[in-house]
Amino acid sequence: MPAENLPQNNEVKFIRVNGGTLPYSVVHRRVRNPRLEFRAEGLLVILPLGWRDETSLLREKMGWISRKHAEITAALEKLGGQASDHSLPIFGEFFEIRRGKSLVFDPGRRVIEFDPADNNQLRRLTAMLKKMLTEELQRAVTHYSRRFGVNFERICIKRQRSKWGSCSGRGNLNFNFHLVHLPRELTWYLACHEVAHLRERGHGKGFWALVKSEFENYREMEKRLFEYWFFVQRYTDFIPSGKSLGPAQIKPRPLQETPDGE
Ligand SMILES: [Zn+2]
Repeated sequence: MPAENLPQNNEVKFIRVNGGTLPYSVVHRRVRNPRLEFRAEGLLVILPLGWRDETSLLREKMGWISRKHAEITAALEKLGGQASDHSLPIFGEFFEIRRGKSLVFDPGRRVIEFDPADNNQLRRLTAMLKKMLTEELQRAVTHYSRRFGVNFERICIKRQRSKWGSCSGRGNLNFNFHLVHLPRELTWYLACHEVAHLRERGHGKGFWALVKSEFENYREMEKRLFEYWFFVQRYTDFIPSGKSLGPAQIKPRPLQETPDGE
């Protein structure tokens, strides 16, 4: 389900960014400082209670907004070129989606066939993908917990709205279901990142040193995770609702804040 959208029932306003129009919405929260977050449908402006006017904030942050906007657009163009009209990436490989009578998952030919009107088939397909992802993460998390000498409680796969993964104080590791679309090395990288949090809570020097001991190219991996975040939004409506047969029929949703990781 959907990427976290702009709040409903909120007035949608617009600003000019990079020669186009960017929708935004304002919410008030108990925060000390104002914050901007890219969401699926535009920019979310979070203001401390009592702040009335966002225009000066937007003017001040225009450099950041247009830079982020350009990065997101570029990421979508780069990865979007790999996708065909009716395809679904699974661990980074594009499966052709065909309309069929019953559910067929054929990794050899990279074909998935199903009846998009049959919710039961869609549920089974989702369960199958979730199982594949769980098994992959189980391997990766086990591997990195041994490497880092830590123990984890359990792995949870959820439809997280704003993060690829997170790690709770009790040693539970949460991962975003949409990781199933990413190349395996990114899934393994993220597992490494989250397991490293079992030793180092924050994103301090010690944390990155730990991650770097496994992934010399961790910066590149973080960047790729950022790019894929926007890319997978194309597929978030596809499973499990099945209202459409392929991403071509999905309204593009170019904007969403990248997860900062936790
Ligand atoms: Zn993190």
